[in-house]
Amino acid sequence: MSDWNIDQAEELYGVNRWGAGYFSIGENGNIQIRPNHRLPDVTIDMKEVVDEIISEGIQFPAVIRFHDILRSQVEIINETFGKQIEEANYQGQYCGVFPIKVNQMREVVEEIMDAGEPYNYGLEAGSKPELMAVMAYNDNPEALTILNGYKDKDYLTLALLGRQLKRKMIIVIEKFSELEMLIPLAKQMGVKPMIGLRSKMMVKSSGKWAGSSGDRAKFGLSIAEILNVIERLREEDMLHCAKLLHFHIGSQLSDIRKIKEAVNEGARLYAKLVLEGMPLEYLDIGGGLGIDYDGTSTTNDSSRNYSTEEYVADVVWGVKQICDLEKVPHPNLVSESGRAMTAHHSCVVTNIVGEMKPAGTQYDISASSDEHILVKNMRELHSSGDQFHPQERYNDAAGYKQNAYEAFKLGILSLNEMAKLDTMYWQILADIHHSLDKDTYVMQELEELEDMLASQYLCNFSVFQSAADTWAIGQVLPVVPISRLNEQPEVRCSIVDITCDSDGKLSKYIEGTDISDHIPMHNLRKGEDYHVGLFLTGAYQDVMGDMHNLFGRLTEVHVYCHDDEPGDFYIEEVVPGTSAEKVLQTMQYNTEYMAKTVKKQIDRQVRKGSLAPREGVRWTNFYEHCLAGSTYLRVE
Ligand SMILES: *Cc1c(COP(=O)(O)O)cnc(C)c1O
Repeated sequence: MSDWNIDQAEELYGVNRWGAGYFSIGENGNIQIRPNHRLPDVTIDMKEVVDEIISEGIQFPAVIRFHDILRSQVEIINETFGKQIEEANYQGQYCGVFPIKVNQMREVVEEIMDAGEPYNYGLEAGSKPELMAVMAYNDNPEALTILNGYKDKDYLTLALLGRQLKRKMIIVIEKFSELEMLIPLAKQMGVKPMIGLRSKMMVKSSGKWAGSSGDRAKFGLSIAEILNVIERLREEDMLHCAKLLHFHIGSQLSDIRKIKEAVNEGARLYAKLVLEGMPLEYLDIGGGLGIDYDGTSTTNDSSRNYSTEEYVADVVWGVKQICDLEKVPHPNLVSESGRAMTAHHSCVVTNIVGEMKPAGTQYDISASSDEHILVKNMRELHSSGDQFHPQERYNDAAGYKQNAYEAFKLGILSLNEMAKLDTMYWQILADIHHSLDKDTYVMQELEELEDMLASQYLCNFSVFQSAADTWAIGQVLPVVPISRLNEQPEVRCSIVDITCDSDGKLSKYIEGTDISDHIPMHNLRKGEDYHVGLFLTGAYQDVMGDMHNLFGRLTEVHVYCHDDEPGDFYIEEVVPGTSAEKVLQTMQYNTEYMAKTVKKQIDRQVRKGSLAPREGVRWTNFYEHCLAGSTYLRVE
C-alpha cells in the first residue's frame, strides 16, 4: 500500500492523457492546472482553488471556469491554421467562427471574442435567439458571422439588417425554400446578402452524430439542389452573392480518415462549383474536431485518433491539393469548432456526501435456538471459511438467499431472520471476494462479485444538470478526486447523484486505458470533505442540462491565472447558482403565495398553542430562507 505514488494515480485516472497539457497530478497529490499555453510555468493547485472557494463561504457543487484555458484554445486553433497555411504556401486565410450553441454563456462568448480579436475570429448561430446574441457580440467588421439552422422571415430579416450594418454575415441556405424567402426580402430591403450553401455530404461519418451526413441528413442541399440554386441566383442576377460552401458531417469525429474523406469531397465540390461560375470565396468545414475525453487516442466515441495539428494539416493540404489540381484559387478556410474550443475550460467540482455499501449493514447475527433451517444453512456457510471452493460457496450463498426470499414471501421467515440471513450473505460475498487472487480467477459469477460489492458514492450534483451527455449518449467524462492522489484509492465505487432517478448516475469511468463500470476512489474520512472534479464539461454540458427534480444551475466561479498572485490565480467573479425560488418560478409556481400559505399553516398551529409564537416566526423565516437558497445539498 505504501508504495502507491502519483505515477500510479496517473496510470489509473489518465489525467495527462485527457488533460491536453492543462491538467496533471502534482507531487503533493493534488490536481494541477496549467491554464495558459504561453506561460507553462504558471500552475494552479486545484485544492487551493477549492479551499479559497470554501473560505469565501461558497457552497459546492460549483462550476469552475478557467478563462485562460478558453483563451489558449482560441489562440491554438488560430495559430495552428496560420502555421500550416504558411508552410503549405496556401493562398487563402483562416477565418474561424465559434458556434455558440456549444456554450452560449455570455462570459464564454465574450472571452472567446476577446481572445480571437487579433485573428478576426467570428461567431456562428443556429437559431433566431442565437442570431440575436451574435449580432450584439460580434462587432468586429472583419470577422465572419455564419448563420446556420432553419430560418424564418424574421431570422432572414435580422441577417439582412446585419448586412446593412456592414457585418460579414453569411446566410447559409439549408433548404431551397429559404432561398425563395430570402430573394424578395433582400430586394425589398435593398441589401446584397452574402449567401452560403450547405451541402448534404455523401461521406458517412461514424459515431454518435453519423446522421449529420448522408442522403437522409436533416440539413443541407443535394448536388441537384445546389445546381438549382445556381440557376435561381442567376435568374435573379444574384449569383455574385454566393460566397461560401458549407458542410458539417457531425460532432466529435473520432476517426481522422473520415475527416480527410469529407475534406476531399467538400474541396472537390467547391472547385467544381467555382468552375460552374459561382464566385465562392470561403470553404466552411463545419465543426467536429474531437476531444479525447477518455484519453485513449482511439476511435472510441469518446476519443479521437488524431491531434489538432494533424486535423489542421489535413484540411489545409487537402484543400490545396484539390484546388491546385482543378486550377481554382484556394478558398479562405472557415471552421466551426465548438467542442474543441470550450470542453477543457470548465469543470464541476463537488463533494461526496455519503457512501452506500451493499455489505455495509451491521445487524446482530448471533444464533437463536429456534431459527429456521435456511438461516442455519447460511450460518454454516458463513463460518465455513475456505473449506469450499469459492465458486461453490458463492453458488450456495446465492441459492440460500433465493430460497429465503421465496420463504419470506410465503410468510415462513420472520423479518428478524431475513435481516440475519441477508447480513451473513453479504459478509460471505465480501469474504470470498477478499480471498480471491485477482489474477487467476476467471469464473464469470465471481467477476460479478466486483460489481455486486462496489460501493455507491453519493455525489452532491445532478447528472441531468451537469453531465447530460453521460446520460443521453453514454459520453465518458473524466472524474478524478481533487486531492489525495498520492494515496492509494481503496474503494471501488460508482458515482450516483442526488436526483430521485435511478438513471442519475455516471455509468462509465476511465480506468487506465479501459472504460470500466466502476472507479477506484479513496476511503471517506469522518469530518473531512472529499472533493471530486468532473472534467471537460465546458462544451455542451455547461448549457444543455435540465432541471430534473428541480436542481438548478450551479454556482459558477471564474478563475484567472496571474503570475503575481499567491498560488498564481485569483477568483474574478462568483455567479450564484439558481435559487430554489427561481427554479420553482420557471415551473409557474408563485413562491410568494407558497410562503404565505405555509405561514398561514404555521400561524394556525401557533393560535392552537401547539407551536410557541417565537418558534412560529423562526419556522416562517426558515422556509423563506430555504426558498432563497440553493437547490443542492448544503453540507455543513
Ligand atoms: C454543432 C455544430 C457545430 C459545432 O460542432 P463541434 O463538434 O462542437 O465543433 C458546428 N457547425 C454546425 C453546423 C453545428 O451544427
